[in-house]
Amino acid sequence: MKKELIIIKLNPLIAEIIENLQLDLIKLFNGIFEDIHIIENSKGILKKNYNEHRNQYNASRILDDMKEIGIKEEYYRVLAITSEDLYTERLNFVFGVAFIPSQSIIPESVSAIISFKRLKEEFYNLSKDDVLFRDRVIKEAAHELGHTLGLKHCINECVMRFSNFIDDTDEKPARFCDSCLNKIKKNYGLG
Ligand SMILES: [Zn+2]
Ligand SMILES: [Zn+2]
Repeated sequence: MKKELIIIKLNPLIAEIIENLQLDLIKLFNGIFEDIHIIENSKGILKKNYNEHRNQYNASRILDDMKEIGIKEEYYRVLAITSEDLYTERLNFVFGVAFIPSQSIIPESVSAIISFKRLKEEFYNLSKDDVLFRDRVIKEAAHELGHTLGLKHCINECVMRFSNFIDDTDEKPARFCDSCLNKIKKNYGLG
């Protein structure tokens, strides 16, 4: 399986934002992904994943759908993106979720999803900030993709630090610490 990352847009998103994310991911995952493509999911998020009482989407269930697509299409890693608000059974909201593969070096298709909803300053009734938004998007994307490459949460100055709130996201750097980067490269880097 080619070591490609497929970015799946689950609903219409501004092209420039996704292209910037693609550029930021190419830099950060140099030597890990051979290629990064953007595709649209024509079906979007399935209605069954919507919880009308919460007005949110169930991230774990969307992840299951992405896993199915990933395996069927033989995508190495999938990053699904939505502007809808996400939750899980355990958490009132999540910036994103991901599968963490077993400690196997055998390539397999693994998926992650992030939501733009709570990365926007407008969500917190503050004025729009494109630079800050781009920074948050790459951090959340890198964090969830780190999980898909076997990383757990990290306490170093590292993008793998857990974010409970948006301030946590803003405080961590948009890069992996040496320890996490070495783990990824050792287990999943391009040979
Ligand atoms: Zn995490
Ligand atoms: Zn780390």
